Amino acid sequence: MGKILFWIAVAFVVLLVLRLVNFAAAKARKAAKGPQEPPKAIPPAEPTVRCVQCGTFVPKSEALPAPTGYRCADPACPRRG
Ligand SMILES: [Zn+2]
Repeated sequence: MGKILFWIAVAFVVLLVLRLVNFAAAKARKAAKGPQEPPKAIPPAEPTVRCVQCGTFVPKSEALPAPTGYRCADPACPRRG
């Protein structure tokens, strides 16, 4: 009986040592990699405006200002006025 307990204790010690070695290796890898870069921030979505001619939503930078609002740059868009 004492022999079984001894081997169980040995197994636990071996597992504990393996775990400690694994932690140390992981820590070393992380330290070697340097400080973690923060995840890249997602740029804020560009506001969209509605074309007063056809109703299509287009990014504001691509929209053409019109007297009554914005127009899309689509040549197929009907341009009345
Ligand atoms: Zn349009």
